[in-house]
Amino acid sequence: ARAAYVARNPGSAAALHRARQVLPGGNTRSSLWSDPFPLCIESGAGCRIRDVDGHDYVDLLGEFTAGIFGHSSPVLAQALAEAHARGINLSSHTPYEVALAERLCARFPSMDRVRFANSGTEANLMAVTAARCVTGRDKVVVFTGGYHGGFMTFAGGGSPVNVPFDYACLPYNDIAAAEAEFQACGAQIACVLVEPMLGAGGCIPGDPAFLQALRDLTTRHGAFLIFDEVQTARMGVGGAQGRLGIIPDMTTVGKFFGGGLAFGAFGGRAGIMDHFDPSRPGALPHAGTFNNNSLTMAAGVAAIDTYLTAEALDALYTRGETLRAALAEIFVARGLPFRISGMGAIMNIHPDSGMGREVDQKLLALLHLTMQERGYYFAARGLMALSFPVGEAELAGFMAALEQGVGL
Ligand code: PMP
Repeated sequence: ARAAYVARNPGSAAALHRARQVLPGGNTRSSLWSDPFPLCIESGAGCRIRDVDGHDYVDLLGEFTAGIFGHSSPVLAQALAEAHARGINLSSHTPYEVALAERLCARFPSMDRVRFANSGTEANLMAVTAARCVTGRDKVVVFTGGYHGGFMTFAGGGSPVNVPFDYACLPYNDIAAAEAEFQACGAQIACVLVEPMLGAGGCIPGDPAFLQALRDLTTRHGAFLIFDEVQTARMGVGGAQGRLGIIPDMTTVGKFFGGGLAFGAFGGRAGIMDHFDPSRPGALPHAGTFNNNSLTMAAGVAAIDTYLTAEALDALYTRGETLRAALAEIFVARGLPFRISGMGAIMNIHPDSGMGREVDQKLLALLHLTMQERGYYFAARGLMALSFPVGEAELAGFMAALEQGVGL
């Protein structure tokens, strides 16, 4: 499969060679690397993408969950063109940003007020900063397998990379470990930062009892509970917190709420967020040239009004649950060495050979290359995230290709 891949994709190989001269590893996002080399994608339309060798793929990766709209939406293109025509870089606050803020605050009960940033990473960094400043405490609790942004890497068990504060990294879905941590040093904990589903950590849903326990512990000890809903905000109109009925103190979002452009936002109760009110003495600083850039703001508003409706998000959630159930069934029924985890339309295929990590990795790589050869694109690590344009026909085609590909 590997040799066939190399032979089939000379354009992508050449593109990588060229890119490597000026970009370490040939790109700017570590997660994009896959062996022997990633495809170089030149364009997309609807739920399809095309690589530089002219192969078309059904895009089942959806930009690692950010690309919920598919490609080249005329609605978003028009919103961007209109915003651009009115002038961008306007050197002050604009009507666009309040329109987007109103919509976000209306969706999330935990968000009375919100501030914008350019990525989910920044949003999390600012939420943690707010929690530490407002509580006057130092420590941040995160979880093994959690991912909150590129330069806030809490290496699971290993050494921290660039984490500018004291933290504890606890096992996910482990209520007893969280209780023990609060018992030991509850008065030092500023906040718990948690994903309602581990995203990059393999699409492992949070146990509702675990998330509720975090809610209870933080309330009891005067710490803030921050839900990182950068991925899970798509689980329904009120995100995962809406589905769970758990209201955190702060919420961070990102990805698709910028209508496909660079975006992040952090919000929370007025009593917390008003510390950022610059008219107040001693206000917390939070700046960023492009935080309120009109293109992102306008695209976000159009995206929410046109695409991110309760009905559309619920339908996408259901489509994902149906696909995941079908995959789980085929893996079990045919005795295939894989399993699947996830929530709604975000899921991860895991190799499960019982023969160790090395065999597992080979199996997943084989499945990935086999499905890619048949025209279905997802992440080498097994991640799939459906976008709105992926329909029944594409998913039926995917299931058929899977049966064929694994020789059933
Ligand atoms: N939090 C979660 C849960 C994420 O999945 C991501 C991105 N994959 C981030 C934060 C960081 O967002 P960004 O890549 O926009 O910085």
